[in-house]
Amino acid sequence: MEIKIKGLTRNYFSDGRLIKALDRVDLTIPANQIFTLLGPSGCGKTTLLRCIVGLESPDEGEIVIGDEIVWSREKNIFVPPENRGLGMVFQTYAIWPHMNVFENVAYPLTTRKMAKDEVRLKVAKALKFVQLDGFEKRPATKLSGGQQQRVALARALVAEPKVILFDEPLSNLDAKLREETRKELRHFLTELQITAVYVTHDRIEALALSDQVAIMRAGRIVEIGDPKRVYFNSGNQFVADFIGRANLIKGRIASQDGLHAVIDTDIGAIRGLNSQKLASGTSAALCVRPEFISLAEKPVGEGDNIFRGKLESLVFIGEAYEGDIRVGEQLFTTTVSPTIQIAEGDEVSISFNPDHCFLLPVAEDS
Ligand code: ADP
Ligand code: MG
Repeated sequence: MEIKIKGLTRNYFSDGRLIKALDRVDLTIPANQIFTLLGPSGCGKTTLLRCIVGLESPDEGEIVIGDEIVWSREKNIFVPPENRGLGMVFQTYAIWPHMNVFENVAYPLTTRKMAKDEVRLKVAKALKFVQLDGFEKRPATKLSGGQQQRVALARALVAEPKVILFDEPLSNLDAKLREETRKELRHFLTELQITAVYVTHDRIEALALSDQVAIMRAGRIVEIGDPKRVYFNSGNQFVADFIGRANLIKGRIASQDGLHAVIDTDIGAIRGLNSQKLASGTSAALCVRPEFISLAEKPVGEGDNIFRGKLESLVFIGEAYEGDIRVGEQLFTTTVSPTIQIAEGDEVSISFNPDHCFLLPVAEDS
């Protein structure tokens, strides 16, 4: 089921200060996809989710789920949460500690006064789906973090919602379990074929889980795209920086040819993808990700995007080293293979393919 959000605004007043938690958000969340709202803490993700669910009332705008308007200021429509056909998984799971697994999952059905046999069937189906069949009588307090998360998922699914919404559901799990659960969740959601709206501040979670990602900043959506597009070729400097590690080099567009443009920077000319069709003379930044920079001890031949610099630091991070190379005033962070024989202080060459770096307009506030 598609969700359409039009001109959604939600203001808070706190200590005499106006906070625009949502600032005229326009957004279409496509049906039957995993759609993620990604952004730093405080950018309005939870507020947007709670408005869709109906736990929060916006100030302006409209929310349409499928072909039903569930909230509209202008038309004076408010459909209460329980009639919106949605399931939600909260950050804290909100599992009832005094209930066992069965009672927790059955809760959305028993509050609707559904017949006992039907409840039993539906709970069994939901628990089987999250692979917790056999856990019915287990007290909620005797579950691991990962199991609690799955109980919360089963409870969100038990009433067969049209849309399921998640607010940072993995943030209470430790790193290893988070990775496993992320894969599991992707598997569950893909199998379900329902619309999933997923909120997180974790870029890796967003990239790994989503069909589409919307990046939010200060109450607004700044960019929407599939994970690869926003990672490899974002049109926004904030997004490029937020979604992955980025080397950003500022300069001015010198010339364009086909897919590429050349940017004049303090360390010389650099060629990169120019998907934004930035015109010659405009201020721009080049973004190159650490994993696309090759490092060599010896000077490499002539060509685009080759620089000589000094290895300022080399830090072991397990699967690789992270190297900082200074070229003039510019510092490049690169991923360095653990097999390479170099040491801090060495002169090195770096190079990167013009197809693996991209040009961005420079934001007015930077
Ligand atoms: P996120 O989920 O992205 O971290 P939120 O949607 O929770 O962000 O909050 C967005 C902004 O609105 C923040 O500045 C937050 O402090 C503010 N805010 C959220 N809820 C309230 C509230 N009930 N009263 C006052 N300010 C709030
Ligand atoms: Mg939040």
